Order: sequence, then structure tokens, then C-alpha cells
Amino acid sequence: MLQVRNFIEGRFVDGAERLPLISPATGASYGELADSSKADVEAAVSAAERAFAAWSQTAAEQRSRVLLAIADGIESELERFAEAEAIDTGKPLNLARTVDIPRAVKNFRFFATAILHQQGEAHFTDRAALNYTLRQPLGVAGLISPWNLPLYLLSWKVAPALAAGCTAVAKPSELTPVTAQLLGEVCQRVGLPDGVLNIVHGRGALAGAALVADPRVPALSFTGGTQTGREIAEVAAPMFKHLALELGGKNPTIIFADADLDQALETAVRASFANQGQICLCGSRLFVERPIYDRFVARFVERTRELVVGDPLDSATEVGALISAAHRDKVQRYVMLAKDSGGRVLCGGMTPRGLSERVKNGFYFLPTVVADLDEFSPVNQEEVFGPLVSVMPFADEEQVVAAANCTPYGLSASVWTQNLARAHRVAGALACGTVWINCWLLRDLRVPFGGTKQSGVGREGGLEALRFFCETKNVCLSTEQA
Ligand code: NAD
Repeated sequence: MLQVRNFIEGRFVDGAERLPLISPATGASYGELADSSKADVEAAVSAAERAFAAWSQTAAEQRSRVLLAIADGIESELERFAEAEAIDTGKPLNLARTVDIPRAVKNFRFFATAILHQQGEAHFTDRAALNYTLRQPLGVAGLISPWNLPLYLLSWKVAPALAAGCTAVAKPSELTPVTAQLLGEVCQRVGLPDGVLNIVHGRGALAGAALVADPRVPALSFTGGTQTGREIAEVAAPMFKHLALELGGKNPTIIFADADLDQALETAVRASFANQGQICLCGSRLFVERPIYDRFVARFVERTRELVVGDPLDSATEVGALISAAHRDKVQRYVMLAKDSGGRVLCGGMTPRGLSERVKNGFYFLPTVVADLDEFSPVNQEEVFGPLVSVMPFADEEQVVAAANCTPYGLSASVWTQNLARAHRVAGALACGTVWINCWLLRDLRVPFGGTKQSGVGREGGLEALRFFCETKNVCLSTEQA
């Protein structure tokens, strides 16, 4: 039976208690993970604190070399990582193999090389002074990540923290801890100094909360639900910690009648149902301009019906299992709510029939499209985070921008039009952190990433992420003669 243990000061150690690991694909337990206590977290923070003095003084070139070796280490075992991720999350193995794990490798490579090109700033104050800006690593970084893209989102935090010269204590989701354990093994193998990265597993309310409250952790980078982000901010803000919060989304996909409809259709289906709709950037509200609404929605529903739902380890599978039985039931509840609010289920709306013997007890739900709900309906306002998309017609640009902006969230949007001027106007008017035009999920790691409103505060990605993990100090040197 698989045992996921804490990784503290370069060694794998037990936590105070254990939790079962449940496979979303089969519903069966396939191992256990450490359920860390406050004392376990304190031990990890102490280890990170001890390692900080040397790591923060290690030359950037050396830090870079170690991070590149971690990237190579993951890449050389890509298949092992991908399988672990698919089993842990229930997502199709193909997706883990082609997207999640390669992107985690890229994250390490990006920050390993970015740190070599960091520039300083100097300001000359007439002939009176020379000001220059020092950016110094903050200390121990607390990194808390969710279950939907476990290794990718963990690497998105670990890589910039370590590149910047911080040491870290990571707390991956208790639902998907296995790739973090594999990452610990790679760190051990490539010679990351002991204590530079520590990983504690267990429940958020216990291990996560202990990390957040620890006064020795000045920087917290969190990705997860909005309510959890709020609870973390309540503890961390009065302690004046550096805080980056990447939270929930309710993202619009907007299709104008002049769009390349074949391309828009394929991408809208992917944006709706990739990873079972469990990507914070998935589009869960599909706005279609009225003249093409009926035709486009009919094709969208037809394509959605064709998606192959089933065993994540089967190479034909396009939609795997949801993360847990509770989450599947939540999606089901929102379908009921849609019906109760006058919505029409165009496809899906239930668990699939005819699953293979191996996965018949897994947590599956058919990709679901609902229509006839207005933008203020709870299904269009609240984050469901599953394979449920609501389609709505719109009359014009002004109306769709207002409807797209009317949720408490503001993470991302995908806009489809061939009219360049309109594309720029709409991008400027949408209240969110990322707007994709005629694409979705196309990433450049140099750009700032994050949300507005209840989708979060702070930006990750690029040099902003390196800066997040640093204290900024100005040194003003008088150039006047004494
Ligand atoms: P979650 O908030 O339940 O948990 C996220 C992490 O926080 C887990 O490691 C959990 O153990 C920990 N945690 C829970 N309570 C805590 C507490 N009180 N103190 C400290 N840590 C605590 O989220 P989830 O269900 O794992 O993930 C799904 C959510 O994540 C969705 O809302 C999704 O939109 C969001 N998400 C956002 C982004 C983004 O970049 N904005 C990316 C991926 C996922």
C-alpha cells in the first residue's frame, strides 16, 4: 500500500496521524498519507529556517543549476509522474502526460533561468544621491496548493520561491499528494540541500492553518477556493505577511457571430470540459451572439455528447473522474438547481452508464450543458468547478460585457471574434486578470497571472513571482561632498 510521508530536512518522515488516499477513478483506497499536526508543521518550518542562511547566500547560478536538475529529474520520469497524477486526480492519463507534467517541468526551467536575468534598478537624484533597489529573499515561504493540477500548481510556487533564494514549506492538497512525494524524491536525488524544500501533508484546517499562522513564515502563496483564501487572509493580514491568493473563477467564453466558428467550437468544448471542468480557468458560462445561437449551441451539444467519459488510464478517455464523491454530488445539486430555476438540460446531467468493471464505483459525471438561465441565476453566479456549462444568447457587445462582468469573480475570459477593434475593446472592458482572444489556456510564463475581485489578489508568473518572494529595500547613497 502506498505511503505518502512528509519530506522534512531531506528525509521522508511520518506525520502524527494518517488519512486514507481514495482513487477518484475507482472509489477505492489505494494508500495513506501523513495527516500532519501543528508540531509536524513546526518541524518543517524549523528545517526551512535552518536552511535559509546558506540557500539565500547561494549564488544564483548554483540555485539555477539545482532547479534545472529538478526539471530534468521530473522529465526523465515523466511517465511515472503522469500515472501518479492520473491516479491521484482521476484525470485522463493523456492530459497528465501532455499538459500537467510537461508544464511543471517548464515552470522549473523558466524560473531556473529567469533568476539569471534579474535586473536591478538605480535612480540618480540629480547630483545629490544614488538610489538603488535591493531585493532580498524573505525567508521561509509557505506554499499551499489545490488538487486540480497538483504538481503544476505546486511547481508554480516552489520554483520561484527557491529561485528567489527563499526556502519553503509546501502543503499540497490532501486529496492529491502523490506527485509532491515524487518531487521530494527528485529533490533528494539531484542534491537540493536539505531543508530548502519541505513538504507537509494533511488536512487544510490543521496542517495548512498551522503553516499560515506560523510567525516564522513571512510569505504565503495560496491557490484554492475563495472561502479558504478569505480564512487565510483573516489570519495572515494582521501578521502583515506577503500574501498571494489565487482563488475561484466563473469565467465567460464569448462567441461573436463573426468568429471562426469551427475553431471557436473546438476550443469552447475544451475550455468547458478539460480536466472535467476542474481548471480554475475553465469557461463555465458560454455567451453566444444571437444570430448564431441556435446553430452554435446545437453543434456544441453534439460535440459535448461525443466526449468519451471513462477510465482515466484508458487512452481513448477524454473526460475522467471528478475528484471526490462529494464533489460529484455538488455538481449534481447544481444541475437540480438549474432545473428548479427554469433551466433546460441539453445534455448530460447525470452519472454515466456502462462504465467498465474497474471504474464502476468511481466519481464520474457526464459533461453537461444547460440553457435558459439568466446571468443572475445561482448556477451562473457561483463556482461549480465541474463539467457543467450554461449557455446564454446575447444581443450586442455592451450587453455581453455587462453580463460577463456581473459575477463576484474575475479570473479569465475567452473572446472569439475576427473584429480586431472589438477584440481590444472587449478585452479592456472585461473585469478579470486574463483575457484570451481567439484562444484559451495559451500560456507565456513571463506574463503576470492572477485574478480580480473574489478571484484573488497578487500576481504570479514572470518576474512578479520572483519579486513576491523578496523584500524590496532602497539604499540611498549621498553623492554630495561631506
Ligand atoms: P481548497 O481551498 O479547499 O484547498 C486548497 C488548499 O488549501 C488545500 O491544500 C487545502 O488543504 C488547504 N486548506 C484548506 N483549508 C485551509 C485553511 N483553513 N488554512 C490553510 N490551508 C487550507 O481548494 P480545492 O478544493 O483544493 O481547489 C479548488 C479551488 O481552487 C477552486 O475554487 C478553484 O477555482 C481554485 N483554483 C484556483 C486557481 C487559480 O489560479 N486562481 C487554480 C486552481 C484552482
